Amino acid sequence: MALRVQKYGGTSVADIQRISRVADRVIKAHEAGDQMVVVLSAMAGVTDKLISLARQAAITPDKRELDVLLATGEQTTAALMAILLKSRGYKARSFLGFQAGIHTDQTPGKARILDIDAQKVKKALDQGHICVVAGFQGADNNGDITTLGRGGSDTSAVAIAASLKADVCEIFTDVDGVYTTDPRICAKARKIDRISYEEMLEMAVLGAKVLQIRSVDFAKKYNIPLHVRSSFNEEDGTMVVNESADMESAVVSGITCDMNETRITLKRVPDQPGISAKIFGPLADAEIMVDMIIQNTRTGGETDLTFTVTKDDFDRALQISEAVAKEVGAEEVLSAKDIAKVSVIGLGMKSHSGVAATMFKALAEENINIRLISTSEIRISCVILAKYAELAVRALHAAFGLDGDN
Ligand code: ASP
Ligand code: MG
Repeated sequence: MALRVQKYGGTSVADIQRISRVADRVIKAHEAGDQMVVVLSAMAGVTDKLISLARQAAITPDKRELDVLLATGEQTTAALMAILLKSRGYKARSFLGFQAGIHTDQTPGKARILDIDAQKVKKALDQGHICVVAGFQGADNNGDITTLGRGGSDTSAVAIAASLKADVCEIFTDVDGVYTTDPRICAKARKIDRISYEEMLEMAVLGAKVLQIRSVDFAKKYNIPLHVRSSFNEEDGTMVVNESADMESAVVSGITCDMNETRITLKRVPDQPGISAKIFGPLADAEIMVDMIIQNTRTGGETDLTFTVTKDDFDRALQISEAVAKEVGAEEVLSAKDIAKVSVIGLGMKSHSGVAATMFKALAEENINIRLISTSEIRISCVILAKYAELAVRALHAAFGLDGDN
């Protein structure tokens, strides 16, 4: 007998027919003897619809009340699922976030889970119930309802799995798993069978589409195996697990492409101590996340400083940079929005050399110029012109032997 937490996303519970199909799956596992906790998202599109309703009511909806509203999406699906299971003669119980003991901090709209007391769920399981938990929500110290940020039901599921020491947390979605790259860009993309938490975190661009990244952090911390799989077929999906010896056979596991970055360069900045602090201090104060930073020293005591920020932060970052440029006596500020960051990711990089060389060679063969480079222990990223992004992804996918024969 295993304790399984299954999370179903919005498209899997988009209408009663689909909820009923999910119930079939849950019942099958329950009948086979497994203890089942089902965590649900709102029906596809419902959260967006609720946000738009709130915005019709007020330009800036009150955050506390917005969370009360958004939580109803998951309340609806959890109740419907429990109604369905009971009508078929099974013992079932729905739980709202706070009833499942999900205790969060007081950040409406993007609350973090502080701890979980899943005693009530545990007790119901032991009494033979199928437990249905509304995802995406919890309650803070005041007992106020909070939500966990878009895609937060994944994190609800992993947190409950951690608290119940579940054997597995299955994330049912509308794709077959995690792919070596975006199949819409590269037709030869393949489903990955096993991937480490670390790689999944680095593949945030791909991963964010199937998993809320915070849920991967959680899974890693509590060592909960995640199984990302489709709710529309019986195939195995992708296991996201602790790094293991057999994983290192693949040097590179995936290629990502991030079109959401922009570049800002301060030209001819005096090469003196304290200049970087002068530039990045105000950016940090404005809560702008800087991704890559490159400094090229010129002769003559000057340097060019380049960094990247997301498209959302571009205008503010540029404004701040222009003000700072004046202050420190930089020659000018250059910027570009038409860039893409392509990355190769793999645990195998820890033990293999030559990955960077292979990457640069593959890009060079396509005549793609590299503007910026950054690395982590298991990732190499190159910034290139956006118009070459798809070509670069396909070239890298082939160069690292990831092409499938589909
Ligand atoms: N319903 C929420 C959203 O659309 C949470 C989730 O689906 O995980 O973001
Ligand atoms: Mg999702």
